[in-house]
Formats: sequence, structure tokens, C-alpha cells
Amino acid sequence: MGIMSDYIEEAEAALLHTYNRYQVVFDHGEGNYLFDIEGKRYLDFVSGIAVFALGYGNKEYNDAVKAQVDKILHTSNYYYNVPAIEAAKGIKKISGMDRVFFTNSGAEAVEGAIKTARKYGFLKDGRTDHEIIAMEHSFHGRTMGALSVTGKRAYRDAFEPMIGNIRFAEYNDIESVKACLNDKTIAILLETVQGEGGIHPADEAFLKELRKICDERDILLMLDEIQCGMGRSGEYFAWQRYGVKPDVMTVAKALGCGVPVGAFLMTEKVGQASLVAGDHGTTYGGNPLGGAAICAVLKIFEEKHVLENVRESGAYLYEVLEDIKDGHSDIVDHRGVGLMQGLEFDHPVADIINKALDKGLVLINAGTNIIRFLPPLVISKKEIDDMAAILKECL
Ligand SMILES: *Cc1c(COP(=O)(O)O)cnc(C)c1O
Repeated sequence: MGIMSDYIEEAEAALLHTYNRYQVVFDHGEGNYLFDIEGKRYLDFVSGIAVFALGYGNKEYNDAVKAQVDKILHTSNYYYNVPAIEAAKGIKKISGMDRVFFTNSGAEAVEGAIKTARKYGFLKDGRTDHEIIAMEHSFHGRTMGALSVTGKRAYRDAFEPMIGNIRFAEYNDIESVKACLNDKTIAILLETVQGEGGIHPADEAFLKELRKICDERDILLMLDEIQCGMGRSGEYFAWQRYGVKPDVMTVAKALGCGVPVGAFLMTEKVGQASLVAGDHGTTYGGNPLGGAAICAVLKIFEEKHVLENVRESGAYLYEVLEDIKDGHSDIVDHRGVGLMQGLEFDHPVADIINKALDKGLVLINAGTNIIRFLPPLVISKKEIDDMAAILKECL
């Protein structure tokens, strides 16, 4: 028995068993590598599920967070604090959105978006029976509101009743969305690139048509950019690839690069016609520590030309994975954008992922048959080659 298996035994005795975890205890990271507590090194193609974009041990990021720890961690939203103000200005600048509400997680950002839509509808016509259209195979988080708009029935079934008035349409199928539309519809919510659902980017025509429908009916286009946002697509936000701007947007994951933060954002028009003082709140959201982390992330994205790297390395990863797909008849599809790509197999991928872990490569699935590639956004071509070499050995 090693130290690692002792810890795993303790974890299984103490933690609620809501995850089937991989049998590894990570200790620290350096660049794009993770190390377990026995000193073994792993190339990271998961980034803690699209969170740690900058590479581990980034000195500038760590120093900024440490400095804020020594200054002050928390004050409360009844007062202003400079890091949150700077963070809000920064995220407005990269998104072109106008109003920001900071949360602690992605699910909370989605909750805020849902409340925004309901309030927008309420102020419009005084009714409380508005409907939100969400997508099949979507993932928006585990809290009750976020779960209610998550398109995977298995996640919802035991927790019914969900919040009401949600309809599910097929992703990338405009007729299916139109079939859900009625005079109660107040918002359409979707991931710009579906993540957990299997790495499905929205079709440009689909998004543009949704934008048109929302404009015609004065309903809200709400894009969940929690996984695909913050540079992963090669733009700060995946919708910027299509020039289709949402009315409401959610962000989290890489926004804080490890410090747990999220946000929902909206246009001025929605900001002026939805949530007001007393409608929504959070104790921790927008605290100085989170603000300092976001500011550091945004600064490093600029200085290190992170978006350029995503475009270059993303294109290279695309070639490399195409090549692997061509050599393996059990790989049925390859899709994605930037550094968010997936290989779909005609069989479960758990064995491949476990073999890769054994050989020092961290990969993750999306559903049973898809391997998801979500490396840190500073990944190099050499590291993509190293990943490919290990992956080939596992296929
Ligand atoms: C991860 C994720 C969420 C939920 O975020 P949490 O921080 O885990 O609550 C919501 N939407 C999408 C698209 C995600 O990938």
C-alpha cells in the first residue's frame, strides 16, 4: 500500500460519494504538468475542467492572489472594493457587455441569468408564467434552477419537481426551437459550445437565427460561456467568433483560474429592465480575493497573448487529432473549437483514459464515448505532440 492508496481510502470513508474519482491524489503543478503526492508527473489536458488556463505556478498570478490575501479577503457587497471594480471593468471591456454581477460558481451565474429573465418578463407584462427554452444535452450546473435547464434527464429525474416553465429544444435545430416558442417565452438559453454534452459548437446559422427570433419578440438570448468562454475558443467568448451578441451571458471556470468565481453579465437594456436592489445578492460574490484573481487573469491573458496561443495551438491540436482519427476506425467523429475539442469513439472511453493516466497523461470524458481535450490555454505544440504520442499508445 502506497501513501496514495491510504489517502484514497480515507477520502472514500469521509467524502460523500458523488464522484467516481480517478485513483490519483494530486499534490502540485508546474506549467502544464501535475504531480501526484508520490512525485509522479502528468501532462495535463484537462485543466481542472477548463479552469486553470495559465499553467500551474504562474508567478504573476500567484503573487497577485497572495498580495490580496495579505491585504483583505472579504468586505461584503454593502461596500465597494477596488479589485471587484477593476475586475468588472476588465470583463466589460473584453465582452462588450454592460453590467456584471459576480458569483462564486458557474451554477450560481446560471441561477442569476434565470432570475434576470423572469424579472425581465415580469416587468414587461406583469405575468409570472414565462417560459425559458433550454437545449437537450446541455449542462448548466447542479443547483435546482441550473439543473432545471440542464438537458440531461438522468441528472434531473430523482430531484423533481424542477422549477417550472422550461421547454427543451434540440441544439442546432431551429425548427425544434420554433416549436417551443409561444407568447410566454421570455428567454432562450444555450451553451455557445456544448461541453459536457459532448463538445458540440453551435452552428453559425442557428445562433444568428436565434438572435433574430429574440430581437423580433423582445426575448433574451442567454449564452452560457462557463466552459467555452475566457479564451478557450480562440476568442474571449465563443459568440465573438460569430458576431452574435447575447443579452445575458454566464462565465465562471477560467475566469478566476482556480479562485472560485463566476459572473453573469447583461446589456444595459436588460440591466435597466430586470434586477434591482433587493432582488438578488450573495455574501462572497465579488469579494476582493476573487476580484484580484480575475484582474490577474485578464492582465496575463493580454501580456502573454493567450488568445493567439489558443488559435495556434488549437489549430495544431486539430491537425494532430484528425491524424489520430484517420488512423483509428473506432473514432467516429472529431469536433470542437480552439482548445476545446473532442474525439468520439464507437465504444466507452474509460479504459483509454485510465491507461493514459497510468502513462502520465490526464484526459477526461464528455459522456461515455467521447474524450474531451481541455489543456491549459498556454499549451505548446511540443506538449501536444507528447500528448499524441501517449494517446496513440493507449488506443
Ligand atoms: C461547469 C459548467 C457549469 C457549472 O459550473 P459550476 O462552477 O460547476 O457550478 C455551468 N455551465 C457550463 C457550460 C459548465 O461547463
